[in-house]
Amino acid sequence: MSDSPSSDSARNVVIVGSGPAGLTAALYAARADLEPLVIEGQAAGGQLMQTTEVENFPGFPDGRMGPELMMDFRKQAEKFGTEFLTRDVDEVVLTDGSPFTLTVGSEEILAKTVIISTGATARWLELENEQRLIGKGVSACATCDGFFFRDRELLVVGGGDSAMEEATFLTKFASKVTVVHRRDELRASKIMQDRAFANDKIDFLWNTEVVDVLGEDQLTGVVLSDTTTGETREHATDGLFLAIGHDPTSALFLGQVDTDEDGYILVEEPTTATNIPGVFAAGDITDRIYRQAISAAGQGCKAAMDAERWLEAQH
Ligand code: NAP
Repeated sequence: MSDSPSSDSARNVVIVGSGPAGLTAALYAARADLEPLVIEGQAAGGQLMQTTEVENFPGFPDGRMGPELMMDFRKQAEKFGTEFLTRDVDEVVLTDGSPFTLTVGSEEILAKTVIISTGATARWLELENEQRLIGKGVSACATCDGFFFRDRELLVVGGGDSAMEEATFLTKFASKVTVVHRRDELRASKIMQDRAFANDKIDFLWNTEVVDVLGEDQLTGVVLSDTTTGETREHATDGLFLAIGHDPTSALFLGQVDTDEDGYILVEEPTTATNIPGVFAAGDITDRIYRQAISAAGQGCKAAMDAERWLEAQH
């Protein structure tokens, strides 16, 4: 690991972010002899660092712990010559064209191409006990964790498409799913609402918020509050799934590269090219739908290949 990579000449590829997308881009760029630099951020590794068992990453029939899987991604990228900088990027200038400038502390790094893979973060209720019990009954990913809740009674918080999708998905495993929504009408699209209303394993608790999460080492229940009367009560549950939205980690890039109204970076699918030639984006920073480690890794691979082709075309 380096704290101060040489910045006297422009790097071929600088990758910002070190989740599955960034580290897969690094692996492919390193194997193409592009000597990539990954600015991995102080919270390196992405969302899998906060998960426990990952059972849906192909190639690991017995599952892997999320942090271990990410350490292996990193080792594999490093083995082929990826350099890492464990710092946060303070500023980027992309609009002046290649070479691009990335500022890290007092250092300026020049890059012929940039791959943005800073991911997204699930929104949480920001309750102290909720954070303590993540992976112990509390989750923000039904696709990842639903399987562990066979024949259990679960709560899903939220009223948007994600909440309806996750609640519907969870009924494959759970005996009962209760959607807890803070208002008396859903934000979700009609078709997703209809699907959830038609599912007899799904119940709704309207005008209700989760105000505390209960359990020592494992979730046992929550405290619910009625948003109209303010009354609170305890409610036992085996699993609490948050589906209150995600935020792309794109603040650094706003105004530098085209994004949608929520800050997701726009790419020219099926490539990973952004509107700035030489700047590519991969993973959850571009993806509000799939948000899986494997889909992010696939996009990271595409971004490295796109960057390689772009560099070749410049010569
Ligand atoms: P969303 O549409 O922003 O909905 C978030 C929901 O969580 C809202 O119902 C909101 O309540 C609730 N919420 C937010 N903060 C909360 C808090 N602190 N406490 C309690 N509840 C809270 O997010 P999303 O459902 O993740 O969807 C994001 C985008 O992706 C949407 O455009 C959606 O259409 C799209 N999407 C599409 C699909 C699909 O088509 N298959 C699947 C998933 C997502 P309020 O309603 O009161 O604001």
